[in-house]
Amino acid sequence: MEETKVLQRLFRIIPIPEIHTHFSTAVKQCQRCLLHKTRSQVVVGDGTPMTDLMLIGEAPGKEEDEQGIPFVGRAGKLLDKILDYAKIDRQKIYITNSVLCRPPDNRNPLFNEEIMACNNRLMCHIYMVQPKIIVAMGRIALQALLGEEIKGPLGEYIEKNDLKLKIGEYEADIIVTYHPSYLLRQPSKKMDAAKHWDKIKERLKCLSTRL
Ligand code: SF4
Repeated sequence: MEETKVLQRLFRIIPIPEIHTHFSTAVKQCQRCLLHKTRSQVVVGDGTPMTDLMLIGEAPGKEEDEQGIPFVGRAGKLLDKILDYAKIDRQKIYITNSVLCRPPDNRNPLFNEEIMACNNRLMCHIYMVQPKIIVAMGRIALQALLGEEIKGPLGEYIEKNDLKLKIGEYEADIIVTYHPSYLLRQPSKKMDAAKHWDKIKERLKCLSTRL
């Protein structure tokens, strides 16, 4: 993971906000997959550049593509309510997606051609933010974090308490929950999602995070 090695060196000499600015400028030029042809703009991320909690979604939708900010459409409004429930300040965490460019007609991003094409960027992104906990919102985010396709039920990953992401010596817990778009389609799952967010809050407390 060459980009990560470069970041490890940069970390010693450049302040984090400056690294973020250079990173965003570079990513906004990306043409690594075909999604660059249909996007209005690259939707990099939103929130605090270095924080203990990072949320990963799927891909920008129509509103996100227009505004250049993740989670501002209907799913974003539901995410805001979820964060209110969990008493987590959106401005104190960091949010990004598995791919940064909107797939045509809001289809799911393709695993090899798009999710994995955007994966070095995601790993660098996480390494910059240095979260203690990463929340994978939905199957696509989990696939991006694990770097593998998941065919079985998401439920078995939601139940796990030992999922980790390692990049060199850096390590973070992964907690899986439903994507807000899924909850809009399946409102009966909201009670389950509330339990996932209770678990996230509990883990944040155990890890003595600053949130
Ligand atoms: S989705 Fe990721 S890899 Fe594809 S063009 Fe956008 S930034 Fe580049």
